[in-house]
Amino acid sequence: MDRNRERLAQNDPDVFSALVGEEDRQRRGIELIPSENYTYPEVLAALGSVFTNKYSEGYPGRRYYGGQEFTDQIENLARERACALFRCEHANVQPLSGSPMNQAVYLAFLKPGDPILSMDLSHGGHLTHGAPVSHMGKIFNFVRYRTHPEEEGRIDFGEVRELALAARPKIVLAGYTSYPRDYDYAEFKKIADEIDAITMADVSHIGGLIAGGALRNPFDYGFDIVTTTTHKSLRGPRGGMVLCKKKFAKTIDQSVFPGLQGGPHMNTIAAIAIALGKAQAPEFSEYAMTCVSNARALARTLISQGASLVTGGTDNHMLVLDSVQSFGINGRVAEETLDQVAITTNKQIIPDDPNPPLRPSGIRIGTPAATTRGFREVEMERLGHWIVEALAAHQDAAALERIRREVEQLCSGFPVPGL
Ligand SMILES: *Cc1c(COP(=O)(O)O)cnc(C)c1O
Repeated sequence: MDRNRERLAQNDPDVFSALVGEEDRQRRGIELIPSENYTYPEVLAALGSVFTNKYSEGYPGRRYYGGQEFTDQIENLARERACALFRCEHANVQPLSGSPMNQAVYLAFLKPGDPILSMDLSHGGHLTHGAPVSHMGKIFNFVRYRTHPEEEGRIDFGEVRELALAARPKIVLAGYTSYPRDYDYAEFKKIADEIDAITMADVSHIGGLIAGGALRNPFDYGFDIVTTTTHKSLRGPRGGMVLCKKKFAKTIDQSVFPGLQGGPHMNTIAAIAIALGKAQAPEFSEYAMTCVSNARALARTLISQGASLVTGGTDNHMLVLDSVQSFGINGRVAEETLDQVAITTNKQIIPDDPNPPLRPSGIRIGTPAATTRGFREVEMERLGHWIVEALAAHQDAAALERIRREVEQLCSGFPVPGL
């Protein structure tokens, strides 16, 4: 045990015991929430480093405090790696997480009441894409496109275009948090060009899959701005980045600081630099491809056992399972049942869901964390069988207990990085 950890154990046993409990939880079961991952030991080291002591308001070479020779190195490294990885001209790595990252973009280009086009929340869009309960949803006029059952749950670009021509949004936003398909960025770009709108993609979930070449990169289709969190498929610390064309660099930088935030979290930026460095290696590309092939294997298994998936399958790292149609139970019961067998997922609203968000009709299942842990198609197939078995037997305590032991047995052969 390292010295800092020993001090924590001795000096604050309450916090230490919760930490040990969480480590044990992460080790024992399997994480299938699509937005989660197990980060690198090197990232954990940087997060717990003395970079957290430093105030670095401003940007490299232009700071408001002294003593920046090493923080400048770190932030420049993170920015250069981000630009190389995503093939873009400028990167701001200071957003404290995904939500302020998107806020910084909206506030850079929109005035209160201005229209912006985004994906409907109940069809896969994110809370930060204008949920009525969010401050952004109250400040700006979010106009929403949807998916359509008659198009196999895909976006209808005819509808996107009609909405765009009618509302004349300043930003056309492509991005999702619960949509198991890749996007046709060229179609979004064509529509945005007709009305002279800025194109923004929020690839928070799939940043790692794009970096690894497993999914399309919006910059290859002429997009202006791409935002991504760094803690999901990118496998880094909790944080956000705004990537953009050079012509927007100044506006974006000013919007992040001093517009929205104060001092950047330099320990996080050091950890982002590390994660981006790792993502440049060929093994990361293999990781990204495996996230997708694992999701396909899981989808095949679930479908072969009679489960119903939104859009009928997946192109990315996630599946949306209609638990009402498949097993006659809502997403809350499905999530709780899987918790009992040490499989962590999350309840999820599905397109045109008749049920409310706290007991919606489905769950979301994703592969980034399991893939990090070393699970491949064989393990995904076993997980698929257990998921079906557990959901079908959700009232059978003995069956759930047996499945939990089997899941934990499998997990014990796959160590969590850093533990
Ligand atoms: C996760 C996510 C965010 C927000 O990230 P936080 O770090 O939770 O604030 C924003 N947009 C999308 C599409 C996401 O999936």
